[in-house]
Amino acid sequence: MPGALASAAAAARRNRAPLLILVLCLAATATLYAAVDRAVRVEERARLGEVSARAADALHDRLEAYVATIRAARGLFRGGREPTTADLADFARAIEVERHEPGVRALGYAKLVRGPERAAHEAQVRSAGLPEYRIQPGGDREAYAPVVSIAFLDGKGQGGTGFDMLSEGARRAAFERSRDDGQVAASETLQLEQEEGARQQPGFLLCAPLFAREGGDLALRRAGIRGWIFASFQVADLVSLTLPARSLALIALEIEDGASAGPTIFRSSSMVGVATGSPESRVSLDVAGRTWTLRFIATPALLAGSRRWLPRAALLAGILFTVLLVRLAQGEASAAAEARRSALRARLLADASALLSSLEERSALKRLTALAAGSLADGCLVELLDPRGLVRFASGADPAAAAGAASLVQVPLRARDEVLGELTLVRTGSSRGFDAAERELALELARLTAMSVDTARLYRRAHEAVRLRDDFLSVASHELKTPLTSLLLQVEGLRMARERGNVPEPIARKAEVIRRNVERLARLVDSLLDLSRIGSGRLDLDLEPVDLAELAREVAARFEPELVRAGCTLSTVLEPGLVGRWDRLRVDQIVTNLLSNAVKYGAGHPIALELAVGGESAILTVRDGGIGIAADAHGRIFERFERAVSERHYGGFGLGLWIVRRLVESLGGTIRVESAPGQGATFFVELPLAGPSAQAEA
Ligand code: ADP
Repeated sequence: MPGALASAAAAARRNRAPLLILVLCLAATATLYAAVDRAVRVEERARLGEVSARAADALHDRLEAYVATIRAARGLFRGGREPTTADLADFARAIEVERHEPGVRALGYAKLVRGPERAAHEAQVRSAGLPEYRIQPGGDREAYAPVVSIAFLDGKGQGGTGFDMLSEGARRAAFERSRDDGQVAASETLQLEQEEGARQQPGFLLCAPLFAREGGDLALRRAGIRGWIFASFQVADLVSLTLPARSLALIALEIEDGASAGPTIFRSSSMVGVATGSPESRVSLDVAGRTWTLRFIATPALLAGSRRWLPRAALLAGILFTVLLVRLAQGEASAAAEARRSALRARLLADASALLSSLEERSALKRLTALAAGSLADGCLVELLDPRGLVRFASGADPAAAAGAASLVQVPLRARDEVLGELTLVRTGSSRGFDAAERELALELARLTAMSVDTARLYRRAHEAVRLRDDFLSVASHELKTPLTSLLLQVEGLRMARERGNVPEPIARKAEVIRRNVERLARLVDSLLDLSRIGSGRLDLDLEPVDLAELAREVAARFEPELVRAGCTLSTVLEPGLVGRWDRLRVDQIVTNLLSNAVKYGAGHPIALELAVGGESAILTVRDGGIGIAADAHGRIFERFERAVSERHYGGFGLGLWIVRRLVESLGGTIRVESAPGQGATFFVELPLAGPSAQAEA
């Protein structure tokens, strides 16, 4: 198992959120792009459609006007004589063709001449003033429609040309259709003759039949056809005169003759600048029985007004947004992975330190290896250097046996510059190697382990040292007690001899000094003995009824010589009859210690010893007028070896009050002090009359 940390890292790598966001955002961007692009194109098409429709309408209207002109001419000439060139010119002038229908090139009349009438017709026209006249092209045909009168509206000459309109296919088709329908007909595109040298231009004709008798069926019309009024046009003129240059700048126009795929009869110059793929629209235009196809294409000028940049802007915005979102997601994912890793790491370290806080080194280390092998690695080994040799604790895969180890971390266990052993973590072949963070974690684990091993060892050593000290104190004080006791007896003997007057005065005085010091020595040795007893919990109490007032009087009497030497007076207020269940020697020790401190720290000042009842307890008060104690030391002075005076001025171990407190507590009581520097000190001891409770005794 690669461990929880490793799987957290793998989860981070597996996090597909950024990829998913990338794909979704790109898809959304593509959709947005397509939608905006479509919208822009629809808008462009709408503009193109609008401009195209307007142009197509204008062309249609213009053509309709031409048709109307032909109809008007036909109406004018239908009943009367054949229109002469002058008639036609007059008509054009009358209706102001050039003003109202610019683009009409010529207005003409072609007369139907049947085959046999040809010679007579030619002769008649020649005699009427056109000596050169003859039907062209020559040759014998069934019928002819020579142009007998024609007015060119640009003023480039007039008169009959004799050109047979039926001799040419396009013209003939239009003439015959108009004859058969009795309507104005348009020709297909044809090349109009231009002035000499000029290029032929695509144009068309509109023609209308003139009958000998109006009405009747097709046969009657064919029989009664007399001739045709016709007008010719150039397509280029039609467009340029109809559509303003402004329109042609926005749309390029191509006109095809026919409903589809006919020959191109016009192409506007703006077609040159048109980009391939530009939107285009096709409009059919019906002209006197023929169909033209108008192909409009948007020019750059039209597209310039469009918002072509919009799709690209949307694309760019989408991509930017995608990048931003993906980065955010990546950050989020790596932050989440990092948080997971550090949570796992914190848990591992917390679990490890909880385990290691146990002073049971062996079981703690065993469980630590199990923890590490279960979370950070596949196997964990802790080796400790011990005076007896190397001690090993292992869990999971054994690093020594794991030949195919994928990765190994070995960290020395070092505490206070001493190498205690080594921590080894191993990952087997199937897992990946340790990364930097995991190696760092292994280091931390090793530090923690070393510290706890070191602490446990220090604790054991300290414990051992304390035990040795207590043993020594106990033995030493016992050993000291024996010679001291006999010394005390001897000194007491000397004192009694002196009282009997058996000892010379100088020796007696010296003996007295010796006695005092031996007593002091005995008290110090007692303190040491108590220290070892209390420290090792071997303080035995001998509980019995004790009369406190009586005991206090005894102690006070014992202090007489000392008080005199120190220049102190002792006043006592002793409530009689206070009998409690106590240990007589220990209570004696309490009073003695407090009085001796009062003498020691209050030399030259009066001392008061008082006894009172307080509920179920006896209250013992010892008050002196000595140096007093600063408030911050009030708690501390009851601790072992704690003192609030300097060694130089006052000797002592700092054990007296500690022993007193422990004795008072062992009797179920409390002790406290009230004092201020220079104001003396008052110690209050409260002892329950019932003695220590069963619990306290235990
Ligand atoms: P020792 O007297 O040997 O120093 P004790 O445990 O008896 O040890 O007292 C602890 C400390 O409390 C003393 O060192 C002293 O500073 C302070 N002390 C105790 N009794 C008095 C007192 N009556 N007046 C002033 N200081 C006192």
